[in-house]
Amino acid sequence: MTAIARREELLWSRCAGCASLLYRKRLRRNLDVCPECGEHARLGAPERLRQLVDPGSLRPLSDLLPEADPINFVDVLPYPHRLTAARASTGLAEAVVCATATIGGHPVALAVMDFRFLGGSLGCAVGELITRTAERALDDRIPLVLVTASGGARMQEGALSLMQMATVSQAIAALREAGLLTVSVLTDPTYGGVAASFATNTDLVLAESGARMGFAGPRVIRQVTGRALPEGFQTADFLLRHGQVDMVVQRRSLRGRLVALLAATRAGRAARAGHPPVPRQEPASRRERLADDDAALARPAGPAVAVAPSPTPGAGQTSAVRDAWDTVRMARHPARPTTLDYLDSVFDGFVELHGDRLGGDCPAIVGGVARLAGRHVMVIGHQKGHTTAELVARNFGMASPAGHRKALRLMRLAARLGLPVVTLVDTPGADPGVSAEEQGQAAAIAENILTLTVLPTPVLAVITGEGGSGGALALAVADRVLMLENAVYSVISPEGCAAILWPDRSAAPQAARALRLTAPDLCRLGVVDEVVPEPSGAAHDDPAETAHRLRAALLANLLPLLDVPPAMLVRLRRQRFRRFGTTRGVNRAGVR
Ligand SMILES: [Zn+2]
Repeated sequence: MTAIARREELLWSRCAGCASLLYRKRLRRNLDVCPECGEHARLGAPERLRQLVDPGSLRPLSDLLPEADPINFVDVLPYPHRLTAARASTGLAEAVVCATATIGGHPVALAVMDFRFLGGSLGCAVGELITRTAERALDDRIPLVLVTASGGARMQEGALSLMQMATVSQAIAALREAGLLTVSVLTDPTYGGVAASFATNTDLVLAESGARMGFAGPRVIRQVTGRALPEGFQTADFLLRHGQVDMVVQRRSLRGRLVALLAATRAGRAARAGHPPVPRQEPASRRERLADDDAALARPAGPAVAVAPSPTPGAGQTSAVRDAWDTVRMARHPARPTTLDYLDSVFDGFVELHGDRLGGDCPAIVGGVARLAGRHVMVIGHQKGHTTAELVARNFGMASPAGHRKALRLMRLAARLGLPVVTLVDTPGADPGVSAEEQGQAAAIAENILTLTVLPTPVLAVITGEGGSGGALALAVADRVLMLENAVYSVISPEGCAAILWPDRSAAPQAARALRLTAPDLCRLGVVDEVVPEPSGAAHDDPAETAHRLRAALLANLLPLLDVPPAMLVRLRRQRFRRFGTTRGVNRAGVR
């Protein structure tokens, strides 16, 4: 390319919407919205912050974190190489930029995601940085504004990235309790684990014009349903029509809308506190303030990471090591005991309760009251089946939003009645269908996760078969998490991971090994507290013995929780899920 051509390329850019050739400076002046067709181009986090906050008010929060490669993940490239490349190309330390600032004179804490950095994926560092921003909002008693742009959880960090959905959600729950406003601004695209947690469990959800949001991505839904998707599926207007966002906002109005919402809620808080709202601060000259912001944003972000010390070798090595892919097949075995089997063999007197009270009863989730060694408990679990007819009737254990809302209702009921909750997790994932998206799958999962972080009653979760991503976590934020020996628990299916990071799905066995999804691996990572051994062979070879062992493990873990006061339980549960953000990784020898 000649120098002139290169210069021309820097000056002009082509609109992705109408293909018009646009003068870059003019486009920027128009907030990167095409003046011809209104297409909203994606923004990086620094530019987004410039557009939203009062000039001169931006105070970036530290992004110094230990280097993270917690599961030593390698696909065709080692994960650290991908991180280094993302840092070099974006100039950012991670996929989120966090700061405090004022918007229209109202102080806020902000976390703004950047899709250019590994698809805005949610890993341990991103979860930690957003959580710290929420904690800063709590300390300063100011609202939290999140601007999301993400393909979902970061699969290179395995189940630890899944845990970030709980970590950030509990920080949002703390702001709810403190009466502090949380706002998320959905930008294009917001999917997967981010959509199913902090993008949708905030008080207010704004969608920028042109943004798409959903739990499952369009490609996955097309693959699963084999159907073309409806026109405008998952777009901001679709979300508004289906009651999933408060408003759709053009970029040029976004700042003004935030100012109005912040003003209204601040007035309300001040009225409750019995004093008038603090008047807006009077700012200095606009030019000076812009210069300040540029200085703040241009500061070398770099990796600037401290290398974590070598962690101690993991305890509890297993003797008989089964290949991870064999374990995946074992966990999916059609004869493997289901939740209803366990309700019959482990519990007594199960009384099933139905319905979400909003219009549905999802067959993929069963729940109700039962007795465990004479004690009353609320049991909620995914139900698969043994025959094809059963599996179809139960939607293969893939819960719809109605299923998640039924589970939520039963969790809350249990807390009100003082019953402990036992969950049995066995799902390939939440239902990735068109109507599930229409009915708010992401928000349904997000609300369950948030509620479980603060549920004032003991919660004991068991991964009995497949623990598939957000759908599993929606029942697995618990005081103790147990896992049957041949169960798996993963941020993404090995097939899905292989399709994205390897050339194709045939690499699923390699992906299964890389994801660290087996019970012993997850125990070492602290995601799971205890492995429940299965009889020789596997659970389905001796269901009675499996039930016997599960019952013993449930009792051993549940009884100590019954004596802990609810407030203490919640505090300990929060600590359990708070520590994943700062995880330093496992030793290289310990996980194979
Ligand atoms: Zn255009």
